[in-house]
Amino acid sequence: MFELYQKKEKNNKNFRLLFYILAKALEALYIISKKIKEIDLNNIYDVIVIGGGPAGIMASISSAKEGKKTLLLEKLSKIAAKLKATGGGKCNLTNTLSTEEFMAKFGKNGRFMSYALETFDAKDLRDFFQSIGVETIARDGFRVFPVNHSSSIILEALDNELERLNVEVNCQVEIINIEKVEDVFIINSKNKIYKAKNIILATGGLGYPVLGATGDGYIYAKEFGHEVTSLHPAMMPLITKEKNFASCKADTIAKAILKVDIPKYKNLKLTGDLIFTKEGIRGPVVLDFAREITPILEKYSEVPLLISFLKGMNEEQIYTHLKNEISKNPENTILENLNTLLALSVAQEICNICEIDSNMRFKNIEGFKREKLVKTLAWTPLTVIGHEGFKNAMITRGGIELKQIDSKTMESKIVSGLFFCGEVVNIDGPCGGYNLQWSFSSGFLAGKMANY
Ligand SMILES: Cc1cc2nc3c(=O)[nH]c(=O)nc-3n(C[C@H](O)[C@H](O)[C@H](O)COP(=O)(O)OP(=O)(O)OC[C@H]3O[C@@H](n4cnc5c(N)ncnc54)[C@H](O)[C@@H]3O)c2cc1C
Repeated sequence: MFELYQKKEKNNKNFRLLFYILAKALEALYIISKKIKEIDLNNIYDVIVIGGGPAGIMASISSAKEGKKTLLLEKLSKIAAKLKATGGGKCNLTNTLSTEEFMAKFGKNGRFMSYALETFDAKDLRDFFQSIGVETIARDGFRVFPVNHSSSIILEALDNELERLNVEVNCQVEIINIEKVEDVFIINSKNKIYKAKNIILATGGLGYPVLGATGDGYIYAKEFGHEVTSLHPAMMPLITKEKNFASCKADTIAKAILKVDIPKYKNLKLTGDLIFTKEGIRGPVVLDFAREITPILEKYSEVPLLISFLKGMNEEQIYTHLKNEISKNPENTILENLNTLLALSVAQEICNICEIDSNMRFKNIEGFKREKLVKTLAWTPLTVIGHEGFKNAMITRGGIELKQIDSKTMESKIVSGLFFCGEVVNIDGPCGGYNLQWSFSSGFLAGKMANY
């Protein structure tokens, strides 16, 4: 019996020993394979760019032009999905402003761009596109488009240039995490491990997630110790409490003036074309104003606006205009009088707001209603109560903190060899080619300087 027990115990011991040896062997194998990966020097890129939007493409091109072995990783099935959709498919690449005027339009963060713009400004961008076979034109003297007004030609030319410069492009790459081991960045993706001496984050913001922007870059940056500011959707239609102008959808108000009716924000004022929607307002001026409104909307649940549909005519000028009209056509109704200033649909809605029968003559309207009418014509109140969020936001306001990025190189001040460009950083501009120019300029600088 004792002998049997001893034999069983010995077998168990052998089994435990075998198990231990096997476990150790597996551990050793794992460590060796990891080491092999780590010292696989032939497979280390000089630069890996993450994100194939305009910033990442330009970063790849300028990096490859410097003779660096460059890989561009994109998570969608094709690069430049958002670039293709820009400017309504026409691609408003940049504009004709001087660098100083250009930077001023970005507000307090504008000056951060000075080195990027010095290295690669609007003229350089147009020259670059000309060099790869895309002529550009500013038909209105301001906004620059490809001559044939199609973003497809831009995409084709950029694709060809990437190929000519031997930039490797890997699409449908699902990155799991990025780490830095000694001097090498290791990008673990679902199917492969990539290694590079430098990486450039060009992952865009959070707007239009269907076009690839889902904020991954903010996560990577935070993991490397960077701060990210609060993020707001910008450049999208706004939802108003008042729905009475929904019937005016067909009419564009040229040069409407929008201002915020909160004393603290009294300097926020913008002029441009406005269009009404079922839910509120849209159009170029609204897109630009939205980037100012969304942060305020987070503090106040509603933002009162005053809008001039009459290019800033004051009450006195409106009175004088109406008086002249009435003396010329004394039989006309108030709607006909107002139609000399506004589209019929808008004039009718203004009468409704003031509870005025639009078929009456001006002289027959009660005094206090006339006053209200003229006041409303000068500045019509509308209250913003919401927006459509990142789903339809062309731009993200906010991003990686600028104070942690060297503006002369676009390199992180925290992690050497880590570079940023494009919308992922805390820079956003208005409509009119500003954001693409920034993406191309910062991409160019990052690609040129990523040099370890
Ligand atoms: C509808 C629309 C129209 C616009 N029109 C204009 C215009 O006419 N003019 C103008 O100046 N601006 C315009 N903009 C803004 C402009 O498109 C952006 O400012 C610009 O595209 C930002 O470039 P980016 O390269 O930084 O980011 P993006 O263009 O967003 O590119 C980022 C890329 O990174 C990829 N990516 C994200 N995460 C990962 C990851 N983890 N791994 C790999 N890849 C990743 C994304 O798929 C995407 O391809 C428009 C925007 C929209 C939505």
